[in-house]
Amino acid sequence: MTSYNKKTVEDIDVSGKKVLVRCDFNVPLADGEITDDKRIRESLKTLKYLLDHNAAVIACSHLGRPKDGFDMKFSLAPVAKRLSELLGMDVIMASDVIGDDAKAKAAALKAGQLMLLENVRFHKEEKKNDPAFAKELASMAEIYVNDAFGTAHRAHASTAGVADYLPAVCGYLIQKEISIMGGALSNPKRPFVAILGGAKVSDKIGVIKNLIEKVDTLIIGGGMAYTFQKAAGHEIGTSLCEDDKIDLAKELVASAAAKGVKFLLPIDNVVGDKFDANCNYKTVDADKMPADYMGLDIGPKTAQMFADAIKGAGTVVWNGPMGVSEWENFAHGTIAVAKAVAESGAISIIGGGDSAAAVEKLGFADKMTHISTGGGASLEFLEGLELPGIAALNDK
Ligand code: ADP
Ligand code: MG
Repeated sequence: MTSYNKKTVEDIDVSGKKVLVRCDFNVPLADGEITDDKRIRESLKTLKYLLDHNAAVIACSHLGRPKDGFDMKFSLAPVAKRLSELLGMDVIMASDVIGDDAKAKAAALKAGQLMLLENVRFHKEEKKNDPAFAKELASMAEIYVNDAFGTAHRAHASTAGVADYLPAVCGYLIQKEISIMGGALSNPKRPFVAILGGAKVSDKIGVIKNLIEKVDTLIIGGGMAYTFQKAAGHEIGTSLCEDDKIDLAKELVASAAAKGVKFLLPIDNVVGDKFDANCNYKTVDADKMPADYMGLDIGPKTAQMFADAIKGAGTVVWNGPMGVSEWENFAHGTIAVAKAVAESGAISIIGGGDSAAAVEKLGFADKMTHISTGGGASLEFLEGLELPGIAALNDK
């Protein structure tokens, strides 16, 4: 299911056509100003291709979580302005989504021009994947392109529903996610090493179960490791733990052993006396955790063991930091693992919102093969789940 073979913008004649493109323009805003335009910049390749190939481009996206109807706090107008600066051309902003203004502007749109619809979530029908709403969106165009990987795990009208009414292909961002992440999962260069961390086992059960079927080595760090440590009979003090997942942790360890998958857990930890960036901390072996301390990072012995397992990997998939990497004192494990991945020469794929942010903040982004652009979507991809926004597109 993780292997898709979908048509891309290059597989379809867009010249002279009106093309509806679902982008991910869900950018952070502060007082109406865009504070990070990364997602807009990442959309440019697909938009430029379409404009250069003589299409009339109607872009759309959601932004934030407007509750009810048109709330101009969530208007895409700042995105139109930024797009126009980045592309060096006019961007025609519609004042509605499927209303008279959008339809009139779409009808008048010429080849090589770009317009942007208002926030698709101004209509509650968007998230309901309402067919009538999807049909209205589709009625303005002749071709649909989905390039919003970040919402590909949602079956909404603009991410999936419209594909029922138009020829539907993917843009470069989705195509890259499918080929790199899908390729690694369906036909990995071995040894295949998965590194899983982050806060909770319960968030990652699906990912662990799916990857256990595929990898040669599974490394577990971060907050979720302590549930496994407790399952192994260790004292874990006040560390994060999901007591209702201890049996599951035992089953996962047994299932890895049965499949011949090497399963690595921390052998030492950096522990703190409270959940605070400036708490008192020390390093202790995994079987010597004091009852009044909590694990906040993997220790140096563990970092070395993990690095040794990563060295020589053919493919590395990484989701979840090894500790509270937002705090300097507890970022060392994540840094050590990032360094090992960067130096391994493996095809390296980072999935998950906080993991991607950590790798970027710690300065390893350009050393990775691929950092997935969609937090939730990349996790569902790693779980082997079908992504409705991709499944809806036309096969090659
Ligand atoms: P992703 O978004 O990449 O899927 P998660 O959301 O699962 O990652 O995990 C990231 C969060 O886990 C971070 O906020 C980090 O601080 C937290 N975390 C990691 N290790 C620990 C730990 N030992 N104790 C508490 N929180 C932790
Ligand atoms: Mg997260």
